Amino acid sequence: MSKKVLVFVESKDGKLRNVSFEALTVAKQLAGGGEVIAALFGTGATEFVQEVSQYGSNKVYVLENEALVTYTTDVYTQALCQVIEDLQAEVILMGHTAIGKDVAPRVAARFGAGLASDCIGADLENGDIVFTRPIYAGKAFQKKVFNQGKVFATLRPNNFELKENPVQAEVVPFQPVIKDLRTIVKEIVRKTTGGVDLSEAKVIISGGRGVKSKDGFQPLQELAEVLGGAVGASRGACDADFCDYALQIGQTGKVVTPDLYIACGISGAIQHLAGMSNSKVIVAINKDPEAPIFQVADYGIVGDLFEVVPLLTEEFKKV
Ligand code: FAD
Repeated sequence: MSKKVLVFVESKDGKLRNVSFEALTVAKQLAGGGEVIAALFGTGATEFVQEVSQYGSNKVYVLENEALVTYTTDVYTQALCQVIEDLQAEVILMGHTAIGKDVAPRVAARFGAGLASDCIGADLENGDIVFTRPIYAGKAFQKKVFNQGKVFATLRPNNFELKENPVQAEVVPFQPVIKDLRTIVKEIVRKTTGGVDLSEAKVIISGGRGVKSKDGFQPLQELAEVLGGAVGASRGACDADFCDYALQIGQTGKVVTPDLYIACGISGAIQHLAGMSNSKVIVAINKDPEAPIFQVADYGIVGDLFEVVPLLTEEFKKV
């Protein structure tokens, strides 16, 4: 049975987030021949219409509104609810990003609907929608089957293959009615600036307590720059104040799925693995051959990271 699938498209620093394209690709598949609608929020949203129509959106709802320029839970919840009502959307998808994690449960609750969060798989089976999501810190996988009512899901970034499917999208300008605002954002102060977004990075060079100091992250930063990647960290490194908590990967940090994850001086505690074990290729550099990280690594280098990392940087510079 065909379905009407809405994708809440997110932008960051003037660019659409890759996970939104992944969500559009999944939407096309789940729609089963039905409509795929993208919703773009904020001033300047119209600029992105062409880009989202590359991924099969039949319709693009454009919410050009000053109140939507910066994310606040109140405003986005109201706006998204109104789009869903207007469209009578049956399936609502978004990225498992900071915003997706915040807004999806609120909106789902307002509709009394179910939510599958942090999904790494999405299929249509005999008309039912089946989402797959990791549980118990990634030790097991749960399948959630939806066969009636509205369905909400957040998708883990970097998990779904992108498929371009250019169509001529119908543009629908939409003005949500925003009322009873409790929060107004006056200024955004960023802790980290520039660089590659950790949650969507294709390459991550991660440091643990083995990097020993703030300066110890420098060789990792250099390798990340050469590979066009981002720097991450274990909680051990964050707790030791070698780096900011914004870099923490794991159960209580960010969950990442890069193509290449290089763990430097990280022992491989289960809480760290929960955030990175789905990476496509894992390389571990550790001077302890018994370190548990080697059990999940595709390639292991037993050695001192301060010798190995600069060597890798030099080699990659030659490529
Ligand atoms: P260590 O375990 O101390 O390992 C350091 C490693 O560096 C060692 O294996 C050592 O052999 C190696 N090493 C040292 N020097 C060098 C060198 N020169 N060259 C190469 N290797 C070297 N942790 C997370 O990472 N993310 C989380 O989200 C997280 N959430 C948690 C939630 C809870 C509720 C709890 C209880 C814990 C959580 N932890 C988390 C902490 C986790 O249990 C570990 O304590 C932490 O991951 C250890 O960090 P580490 O591997 O950097 O440090």
